[in-house]
Amino acid sequence: MTEGAAPGAARYIGRFAPSPTGPLHAGSLVAALASWLDARAHGGRWLVRIEDVDTPRCMPGTDRFILQQLATCGLVPDAPPEWQSARSAHYQRALDQLVAQGHAYPCACSRKDIEDAQAALGHARERHAALPYPGTCRHGLQGRTGRSWRFNATDFKQKQALAPDRSAQAATNSIANTLQHWSDRRLGPQQQDVARTVGDFVLHRADGLWAYQLAVVVDDADQGISDVVRGEDLADNTPRQIRLQQALGVPTPRYLHTPLVCGDNGEKLSKQNGARALDLADPLQALSQAARALGLPALEHPHNNSLGDALAQWVVAWRRHYNGSP
Ligand SMILES: [Zn+2]
Repeated sequence: MTEGAAPGAARYIGRFAPSPTGPLHAGSLVAALASWLDARAHGGRWLVRIEDVDTPRCMPGTDRFILQQLATCGLVPDAPPEWQSARSAHYQRALDQLVAQGHAYPCACSRKDIEDAQAALGHARERHAALPYPGTCRHGLQGRTGRSWRFNATDFKQKQALAPDRSAQAATNSIANTLQHWSDRRLGPQQQDVARTVGDFVLHRADGLWAYQLAVVVDDADQGISDVVRGEDLADNTPRQIRLQQALGVPTPRYLHTPLVCGDNGEKLSKQNGARALDLADPLQALSQAARALGLPALEHPHNNSLGDALAQWVVAWRRHYNGSP
């Protein structure tokens, strides 16, 4: 493709980050296509990262299969893919930094300890709703042995609260305010009370695995990701990731969360609810479906396009549809 460099081209780096827990399905192809189109529409680079940090849930060989599926669709990363499973040392360094700065603490609680403490606080578990960690270990282990590490979202002091030009009153207000605000390129202004909604979340799990939130933030920072384009089901992870970015002193990317693809039953498609693997015998057909889910207009001559022509048309359509004024 010989496109003129778009404004900000030098800085734009996007990524698609599949978990190899199963092959791409209709929903994950939408996220892949969206992130690729956004990178191309900005004249930027597009990377692929295999998020295999939750190793017991990964299916051997699926990573290679996903990369093949992407290539079949003409979505080829601009650099060799990265595997999270090879990046433990980076996550450890980030955790060490958070611990040293007082942003992380060890937790000795088992799942049952946490449920008992929540019950004692009168919190009943609602269906599908995870209760926030009750904070048992926030101020010390009291002789117990740490099993996991948690991020202290409850006592988190936002960076801007400490800016020297702020008045003492403003600083106090900021510290008391646990709301994290952010702006999504499609969803608009968003906010979440991180302390109340998710509480002090896990960074390193009791089973020795790295938590998704930490791995994503460290990888996005190391790869210089300027724009995260992913499915709307991940939108409520964003405030936690922004808090981590602030604590680690790394930049916060721009975010765009794409519409979810729903199955016949109205529920979002995911590997968990048995979304079938894509039939890529006709990749143009699969991509057309994904483009439709993103609200892009149909191709003018749907049967006379090469994959490359179709992708080029969608880049133009994407630019109109999503890059108006972020
Ligand atoms: Zn604990």
